[in-house]
Amino acid sequence: MPAGADPDRPDRRLAAALAEVDRVFAGLPRPGPVDGCTWCYSADDLVRLGGDPDEVPDDLLRSFAHEGADHWSADQYGLLWRRFAPRVLRTVAYHRDELVVPWALRGPGSPSAGFGRWPPAHRDAVTGAYAALLAVALVDWPSGDVVELLGPLVRLDDIAAWFARIDPLAGDPPTTPAPGTGSVVKVGVAAGAGPVVEAGLVRLVAHWAVELLDGTPPHWYDPPGDPVGLATGWLCSPAVRDRVAGFARRYPGCRTATEAGVALTALELGEAELLWELPGGPGVGCGCPACGDQPAG
Ligand SMILES: [Zn+2]
Ligand SMILES: [Zn+2]
Repeated sequence: MPAGADPDRPDRRLAAALAEVDRVFAGLPRPGPVDGCTWCYSADDLVRLGGDPDEVPDDLLRSFAHEGADHWSADQYGLLWRRFAPRVLRTVAYHRDELVVPWALRGPGSPSAGFGRWPPAHRDAVTGAYAALLAVALVDWPSGDVVELLGPLVRLDDIAAWFARIDPLAGDPPTTPAPGTGSVVKVGVAAGAGPVVEAGLVRLVAHWAVELLDGTPPHWYDPPGDPVGLATGWLCSPAVRDRVAGFARRYPGCRTATEAGVALTALELGEAELLWELPGGPGVGCGCPACGDQPAG
């Protein structure tokens, strides 16, 4: 199948997920004037927020997207978030420098959003969009930003479940490099799903494991448990370890894959010093075309 026909291509999958969000959340009832924090929002703002979501000015939309759920009545918050979801998710997908992504996506995970009581189609639309964002983020975003993206996601489901929604992780890893190998990453989200998403996963694992060994926890807002424990549990799981080991076997010259494997062992044993056995130490960067990692500095 040519890459252009692949519906799993991360960019296509994201476009389809956003179209589904548009479809599912179109025509939600208007709440009328919004019951929100009157210290932060004028009466005029509150009326606008209750009107047509497309007419809300960008700065007011951004303010709503970033705001904690405690600024809004629990009776309205879940509905409000869904009414703005098409605009907020599209901004995260295509103009993410305009938002603080983990804040903009934390709404459904707030208890007052009542996510568990939403109709299944509404929950699926949000879950589908978040998973599609994760696939694109693995391919296109710096690994540190992928870790931040996982913050709002783990409030809805566990880390492994999010990665299981991305096909290549759920399926069998390829046993040989792609034909014309090596440059899969350069074509980014327009490539077929498997190789580029897998390369992004390996970059994420190397980055995250080294960060944890360095004593830096993920800065997640109100996570459902201990973030370091959640991250370590997932990173050291057989699914992730096997995926990294397979990649390292297929691309023996890939420093990132080697580093990821060593870092996982170090994390499991609690022996950060193992990383310094790598030539040059940790975090040097690879520059190889298989993983697409850029050399540091
Ligand atoms: Zn306020
Ligand atoms: Zn590499």
